[in-house]
Amino acid sequence: QGGNGSGNGSRILVFVRLRPMGKKEREAGSRCCVRIVNKKDVYLTEFANENDYLRLKRLRGRHFTFDASFPDSTTQQEVYFTTTAELVEAVLQGKNGSVFCYGATGAGKTYTMLGTTENPGVMVLAIKDLFNKIRQRSFDGNHLVHLSYLEVYNETVRDLLSPGRPLILREDKHGIVAAGLTQYRAYSTDEVMALLQQGNQNRTTEPTRANETSSRSHAILQVVVEYKVKDSSNNIVNRVGKLSLIDLAGSERALATDQRTLRSLEGANINRSLLALSSCINALVEGKKHIPYRNSKLTQLLKDSLGGACNTVMIANISPSNLSFGETQNTLHWADRAKEI
Ligand code: ADP
Ligand code: MG
Repeated sequence: QGGNGSGNGSRILVFVRLRPMGKKEREAGSRCCVRIVNKKDVYLTEFANENDYLRLKRLRGRHFTFDASFPDSTTQQEVYFTTTAELVEAVLQGKNGSVFCYGATGAGKTYTMLGTTENPGVMVLAIKDLFNKIRQRSFDGNHLVHLSYLEVYNETVRDLLSPGRPLILREDKHGIVAAGLTQYRAYSTDEVMALLQQGNQNRTTEPTRANETSSRSHAILQVVVEYKVKDSSNNIVNRVGKLSLIDLAGSERALATDQRTLRSLEGANINRSLLALSSCINALVEGKKHIPYRNSKLTQLLKDSLGGACNTVMIANISPSNLSFGETQNTLHWADRAKEI
């Protein structure tokens, strides 16, 4: 895989992950409208008259290509190694980086990021790999690893490791910090899965869908590694690297829901964060001087992890079902644009 681009602009790597067809989708008679070839090429097929099975026919196709595209048989490990392993290596060189999962609700973002106990996702595999790499280091680097896990919901920031009142963002000499945010000192991988699952349970739920975690909340795991090295004149200096792993809110359009005022306000805020994120990425890649981080809580929080010498990875999650055709098309278009910049 390539690294960052040169010059002022950063390059972002864009990946697509297709999830398997779900039981409900199969029972609803859905057909697969996505095909992935050579781990790169994505073919999206639109069917005519989706309600009339007898007249169901291929309408037109579209082709996309990405840094890599993962078919539905791809393991969590493979997704981790292709998308994120290099960023973990970079964090151990004192660099920052971020990985985003983007896509409609139900497309597989949380599965990719958090995963399950049996099949842990990128967040857990990154921490596991990080501890392995720290152990393999030849010098005694006395590494400190801290985790924080937070949520942006309706432009409000909350600590997922210690739920309570909203956190206030403040700017200090280290940059923008969420005042009072838990910095969990991690010593091994074992404790992390349970910790993150618990944190995920704390994500704000939709009042209308009480058992589901919110499709409107962004979850951000930040892993900070701090260690000491000798510089060229033999002075001991502190190095810090930070990896941000982000399970973004569902990217489906707020207009597509039939909820009213409050919902659409929340929707507007979600869009504000997603919009702010894409305008920041655009501005960074174009090498602009002014990057509009201030436009949303999400981009404020990620100010030191986007751009500059940072690595940025985008994973677009999609469903194979023709019932999600519109959302899949939107996600692929967005990913395609992100790739070009
Ligand atoms: P999102 O977070 O984007 O709303 P989820 O990650 O919750 O979506 O995925 C929706 C459902 O599909 C969940 O039941 C999840 O376990 C399942 N799923 C998603 N991706 C995969 C995958 N790659 N393999 C198996 N099951 C998956
Ligand atoms: Mg989710």
